[in-house]
Amino acid sequence: MPLQPDILAAIGHTPLILLKRASAETGCRILGKAEFMNPGQSVKDRAALFMVEAAERAGLIRPGGTIVEGTAGNTGIGLAMVGNAKGYRTVIVIPETQSVEKKDALRLAGATLVEVPAVPFANPNNYVKVAGRLAERLSATEPAGAFFADQFDNTANRAAHVATTGPEIWEATGGEVDGFICAAGTGGTLAGTAEALRARNPRVTIGLSDPQGSALHRHYATGTLKAEGNSITEGIGQGRITRNLDGFTPDVSYEIPDAEALPLVFALLAEEGLCLGGSSGINVAGAIRLARQLGPGHTIVTILCDGGTRYASKLFNPAFLRERGLPVPAWLAAPRPIDP
Ligand code: PMP
Repeated sequence: MPLQPDILAAIGHTPLILLKRASAETGCRILGKAEFMNPGQSVKDRAALFMVEAAERAGLIRPGGTIVEGTAGNTGIGLAMVGNAKGYRTVIVIPETQSVEKKDALRLAGATLVEVPAVPFANPNNYVKVAGRLAERLSATEPAGAFFADQFDNTANRAAHVATTGPEIWEATGGEVDGFICAAGTGGTLAGTAEALRARNPRVTIGLSDPQGSALHRHYATGTLKAEGNSITEGIGQGRITRNLDGFTPDVSYEIPDAEALPLVFALLAEEGLCLGGSSGINVAGAIRLARQLGPGHTIVTILCDGGTRYASKLFNPAFLRERGLPVPAWLAAPRPIDP
């Protein structure tokens, strides 16, 4: 790998990894894009960089200015990294339900955290709305002003995936890609990657793979945008058509129970050495369903959004899983002792 001028140049160009068991069980080639290998350790580094650079080009952010964002965590971690590298301060509004590991990573990156109760988007105290109001206030009071990144409705987010994630997948597969599927938070990864792949091959099947209770799944499957139930996964599950999802329609849509996704997360760690977060489990489960729908011999690509260490206190905590009636793998429940 050539010398990089800064950390931001190391965003993207992530490996596309063959998922062995999922491929063997379906007779397809199931590939995971290792987004946890980005410098901020998630898929959201791409959107963070593109949103800040679009704001710079538009003159919306000045040297020494403040970036404000409402985020489940990963976008904030990406923005804090981009902010540090470019000389901006970062203020992050986060629902208090998000994992302690993500909040610690944000503090460690020097972001100022504002924790708020998790309430729906319709509530004026929803984290995204609090962030928007805070950005307005700081624009007036901070000497160098403030910029609201607004990942849900800022289409520089989707543009990051049109320009990078999609073309990287096309290049790594030599254009041999029959299906692409992932979950939606802002929808930037799904709609942007789909746009890039469809532009190169209109026959590629695009799928939404969303967690249990997904309003978006109901919207695409039945026409009703309504959430019913919830999931322990973080960063995904969207209750509205964001501007990043505007004009996008998947070819297929699946709703994945946590009890289907989590055993995949555990097996990928124990059998293939991939330590992943919950949304990656939802994505791999969706890729397996799409492989079964298309039949053997196809290549399906999905996103491995972030790493499991970001959820050690939840996904990999037997007490947390048991409380929710979720499966606990034997190696996690009772690690094999060794006599020193
Ligand atoms: N997985 C995780 C862990 C995330 O943090 C996010 C972003 N919120 C996503 C998936 C979804 O990505 P996008 O916002 O591009 O839909």
